[in-house]
Amino acid sequence: MSAPPLLDDALAEVALALPLFRTFTYAAPESSRHALVPGARVVVPFRGTTEIGVYLGPGDPATLRGKNGKAVTPKAILDVPDAEPALGPSLLTLCRWIADYYVVPMGVALRCALPALLTGAAAPTPSQRTHRVATIARHIESLLHRDRIFARSPQQRALYELLEANGGRAAVHQLLEQLKFSPSVLKGLVARGLAVVDDEVVARDPFATRAVAAHPSHVPSAAQRGAVDAMAAGGAGETFLLHGVTGSGKTLVYIELLRRVVEQRGRSAIVLVPEIALTPQTVDRFRAAFGDQIAVLHSALSDGERYDAWLALRRGEKRIAVGARSAVFAPLEDLGAIIVDEEHESSYKQGESPRYHAREVAIVRARAAGAVVVLGSATPSLESWANAQAGKFRLLTLPARVGGAQLPSVEVVDLRVGRAAAWKASQEGPKSPVDQVLSAPLQRALEETLAKGEQSILLLNRRGYSAFIQCGDCGDVSVCPNCSISLTYHRAPERLVCHYCQHQESPRDRCARCSGETLKQRGLGTQQVERILAERYPLARIARMDVDTTGAKWAHAEILDRVGNGEVDVLLGTQMIAKGLDFPNVTLVGVIDADTGINLPDFRASERCFQLLSQVAGRAGRGPKGGRVLIQTRVPTHHAVRCALSHDYHGFVREEVEGRESPPYPPMVRLANVIVSGTREDTTAAVAQHAAAWVRALMTRRGTAGVTLIGPAPCPVERVKQRWRWHFLLKAEQPGELTRVARYFVERFEVPKRDGLRVAVDRDPVAL
Ligand code: ADP
Ligand code: ZN
Repeated sequence: MSAPPLLDDALAEVALALPLFRTFTYAAPESSRHALVPGARVVVPFRGTTEIGVYLGPGDPATLRGKNGKAVTPKAILDVPDAEPALGPSLLTLCRWIADYYVVPMGVALRCALPALLTGAAAPTPSQRTHRVATIARHIESLLHRDRIFARSPQQRALYELLEANGGRAAVHQLLEQLKFSPSVLKGLVARGLAVVDDEVVARDPFATRAVAAHPSHVPSAAQRGAVDAMAAGGAGETFLLHGVTGSGKTLVYIELLRRVVEQRGRSAIVLVPEIALTPQTVDRFRAAFGDQIAVLHSALSDGERYDAWLALRRGEKRIAVGARSAVFAPLEDLGAIIVDEEHESSYKQGESPRYHAREVAIVRARAAGAVVVLGSATPSLESWANAQAGKFRLLTLPARVGGAQLPSVEVVDLRVGRAAAWKASQEGPKSPVDQVLSAPLQRALEETLAKGEQSILLLNRRGYSAFIQCGDCGDVSVCPNCSISLTYHRAPERLVCHYCQHQESPRDRCARCSGETLKQRGLGTQQVERILAERYPLARIARMDVDTTGAKWAHAEILDRVGNGEVDVLLGTQMIAKGLDFPNVTLVGVIDADTGINLPDFRASERCFQLLSQVAGRAGRGPKGGRVLIQTRVPTHHAVRCALSHDYHGFVREEVEGRESPPYPPMVRLANVIVSGTREDTTAAVAQHAAAWVRALMTRRGTAGVTLIGPAPCPVERVKQRWRWHFLLKAEQPGELTRVARYFVERFEVPKRDGLRVAVDRDPVAL
């Protein structure tokens, strides 16, 4: 007996988060059809288990023909768990664009827009976390009465009176924290009928417990007002590039724009920051301005907390989302503005599939929503700068610091020693440790700053104790067993660590290759510099900020709060201290080694170095006392260093763009990096070569105009996490053609099913 023919509306097209470039057709049972709105989550059977998918629309009966031409009976949707679709039409459209542009299956793109709790099989529940709350049950007015009741229980009395002081009701854990009593004291109150304890649901908002310091609200300057006016009058979908020097008050511009968009026009907005943990000051300013209207999407949120925030936005209870790159998917309706602060930051690019860039997604989303986009930076990416030059973005400039503060004076300290100086030094014997870290001018500047009671920031973009361990006999360097990367030596606890895969091992006594016993530590890391500084300046209060000191949830904010409160004299850290910090008492910035990273085999190495130097320099002299920056380098004539010295963004761009003309690199062309990886070196290389030849043949066959292929070659870091990596680059002047080639390749090229072989396409890569 054959099944009755299915009506089209009885079929459903469902996207599943699988690495397959297709959607799936399911039967929609009568009972579920009313809830099947595009964007709704569905639970479906798939290969013996169940999966969560997203309903896209009516299914196509033509998809129900098997390989042999016979009709296939579709499986039925098991459940539509939510009353409302998880994704609205605008986010659905946005995910379609992501799937297309970044060459990923729709189901994978959709994952970006769903909080983790919605990708699990269980229907999520809004916050069920409760806390215990105590309430006064019987009021004791007369003091006499009170004295008698509590005659033998002074602790109960103290607790009772604390409750009173809190308006008769307070969270139990807070009461006990304040009074440090054992819980039995409260039990006593309850037993005597003086108080009751019950559960209260709390919205999971960890920010509720972080006190916001009151921030002075400034009156915008004429330059700031001009920028806000231009943005507020911006056309739907217009993108502004706000080029404002460090300390020009970009945050206030954002806040004033949001006042107009959200408070006056009643629309919603998204604010993207590179990393919430690193920018507590910026987030605090938004919270001080908009309070409850803000949902902060923080990477330290638990899944439940994230879901609560998502729900509050989805329901329109909060209308401003602040967060890192994934906040660009905040489920807001009637979007009026998207702000991308520090738009040049590479953290806006997602490292795994889908490898989207939040700045690009923001522009696409805003265009569809009729919102304006503001990209802010003191050092805009070359891509954004080129777009502004081409008239695609509107350029707004804040050329000066607010309140008459000056940009700091930047000096270079040339670390190259001439031959005469080297000979002299060799006669003087070994250098003291501090001399190996800080040149004489930087030592003097640091000592002067300490003497004046002002604060210093020292940048060393290398964590750990020393960069690597080398055998003094054979020169062998200890390398990670999983990656082609040298191991970094860490102290306290002592171990060798791979910064790529987190592999750890105990330091060796002998060289693994020649058994030599003279293993030497080479290259300074922040741990060692911290120790050297502490020995040399025992009275200075030094704080270190790098990945190793900021593991705990609020560690960044705590360190920065201490700096803000004047409890730190010297803040030493990796590039994380270069971002957005605004401390008026910081008058000295020292860059210990400007050359870290400048010679990496990556076309963006100079740009990144220039940005880092400019940004860290921008931390100095934000207050009335002015500021000074010293940059130690061995390449003082490199344009990244030279232009940072003179705060010359335009000069840097001019030279850098020239260098990217031939061979062409972004922003001259669009790039896609095709990465082949696998567990064996030989097969990975072979597949990479085959894939490149395949694409070349495809381009010849189809006469693809304007796409060129470069490579293949091993990736700069050839092996990561036990996987070998090869790559080739596709360059094109037009993004459309690149999309077609990449898509055709990913959908049709057959990767051998062995040795863990995989191919991935990284569109607009930020690192090669
Ligand atoms: P940017 O992000 O451009 O580097 P910030 O937004 O951090 O700069 O602002 C730098 C400092 O200037 C902050 O301390 C801020 O409070 C202050 N500020 C901003 N606008 C004004 C203003 N109009 N008047 C006085 N101070 C201001
Ligand atoms: Zn490793």
